[in-house]
Amino acid sequence: MQIKIRQLPPNIIAKIAAGEVIERPAYAVKELIENSIDAQATRIVIHLEEAGLKKITVTDNGIGMSLKDLMESFKLHTTSKLTTIDDLNHIASLGFRGEALASIAAISNLYIQSRIKKSVGGSFVDISEGKIVDSGSIGMPQGTTVIVSHLFYTVPARKKFLKSQQTEFRHILGILSHSVLSHPEISFVLTHNKKTIFDLPQTTNFRERLAILFGEKIITNLLPVFYQDTLITISGFIGTPQASTIGTKKQFLFVNRRSITDKLFSSVIKDSYETLLMKKTQPVFFLSLSLPFEQVDVNVHPRKEHVRFVDSTTISMVLHKAIAQTLAENNVTFYDETSFGISLGDREITQSYTGRVLKEQTIPWDIRVRDANVTGKEIVQMHNTYLMTQSRFGMLLVDQHAAHERILYEQFLEAFKQKKKNQPQFQLPKPLLIDLSFSDGQLMLEHLPLFADLGFTIEQFKDNTFLVQAIPMLFQDRNIAELVSEMLADLFEERNLKDIDVLSQKLIAYLACRAAVKAGESLTKKQAKDLIEKLEMTNNNATCPHGRPTKMIIDINQLHRMFRRK
Ligand code: ADP
Ligand code: MG
Repeated sequence: MQIKIRQLPPNIIAKIAAGEVIERPAYAVKELIENSIDAQATRIVIHLEEAGLKKITVTDNGIGMSLKDLMESFKLHTTSKLTTIDDLNHIASLGFRGEALASIAAISNLYIQSRIKKSVGGSFVDISEGKIVDSGSIGMPQGTTVIVSHLFYTVPARKKFLKSQQTEFRHILGILSHSVLSHPEISFVLTHNKKTIFDLPQTTNFRERLAILFGEKIITNLLPVFYQDTLITISGFIGTPQASTIGTKKQFLFVNRRSITDKLFSSVIKDSYETLLMKKTQPVFFLSLSLPFEQVDVNVHPRKEHVRFVDSTTISMVLHKAIAQTLAENNVTFYDETSFGISLGDREITQSYTGRVLKEQTIPWDIRVRDANVTGKEIVQMHNTYLMTQSRFGMLLVDQHAAHERILYEQFLEAFKQKKKNQPQFQLPKPLLIDLSFSDGQLMLEHLPLFADLGFTIEQFKDNTFLVQAIPMLFQDRNIAELVSEMLADLFEERNLKDIDVLSQKLIAYLACRAAVKAGESLTKKQAKDLIEKLEMTNNNATCPHGRPTKMIIDINQLHRMFRRK
């Protein structure tokens, strides 16, 4: 068969290209906000209907456009922000590709009205599928209003891939939080389906915005960062180790006030904490880097989420220094008051929940009894990390953390499975109010039924404040606010977690890890003995839930051979 290559008609090309920039409503909102910021607005009002799918309205008080500019603005590759190729070397504006309005116009009904300062009135254009259907003059204050209706109606294929309205709205909140944080001097108003979500006054205080977005509590766990040399200024906040979470939701990096993600810098920041962070947790940071515009290439990603640096090695070094210094100056050490941790006056005994359980022998779950292979009476703890004893087959070495993790995991899982249908609940003596960030609040609303299935009794108290009345019995000793926020972090990552079994398994593995004795904790003889006995009675006991070995046996025959007895 003969293959025919044809050039696609322009309107199809436009729609395909639009999909790359505007993948979901949140990206349309982002582009519109960035245009308003570039237009020097000091107030931006955003109204959404049905998570932006029905309608997005953005009004700003920026410099506006003349009728002539208005007629150009929505065409492909039209921009006021770039004239020569050289300009690409030092871009100070958020936009420059001249793609956003054209992309939005290709896949929606776009209406723009705008008025520049010196003009008497404003003008408007009404665009459908990229073509002007109406235009004229209109009375309005200085600034611009853009209305996007029926986004994606020309590309039904894209629409199919969108998630629920709540999910799309959450994405919008996520994206907005970046603009809101990087531009505290701009007042932002957001409404969704006529309900006011936030109304943020202008402020010079970044901290204030953080408190509004993430709840007051976050502030107590933040350390201010300030570093300056001839090339670069770093300012903002980093979280104490205790504030760290499993997701990257509370990591914000702004470069010349553009929000970016950068793997290298994220890992530099994380490494600067050295051993202060627990494995798999992520530090919290809100950092703003300013450096000369020509040091940054912003033209590497269609949505401008990544940038390239002329000298990323120097920046990494400086970043590391700024964080290491901040941590040192603040005398930060790891102490997790919520779970284990050895109290100073009492070094012998672990103060952890697990330590207590081991000590008091009150593990409330049944364990399947299986033949233990341990024959040694004495157990030696080495380097506060490994346990050594005699087994029927030779010398047994156990990694105390990995072993304990597996024991707890199996116990938790078993208890959970048995009682899945009817999780026994622990009624809190006093209901607990937890303050969530805007996006976590949305996520919580969306997943309340899932939490209920898992055995939590949680209801919305007001806006992003939730009331916890009961939790699954299994988690009764955990820090609830922390537990909930970890669960939300997981849900946010959207890894197949709508499945309650997957979620509970993840949660349980996490709990087991947090509850298990750590390497470096000294155990009493009895605790060591209990640990090894329980490990022997546990399913899948050769590895921890993450796959690391829990135990090794040095075969007695091999020992004999080593000493030339055999
Ligand atoms: P870019 O932002 O990359 O230049 P856009 O397609 O987003 O491209 O916008 C095209 C042009 O329309 C901008 O360069 C700007 O001149 C104008 N424009 C868009 N939105 C606004 C606004 N809110 N206020 C003033 N001018 C605007
Ligand atoms: Mg733009």
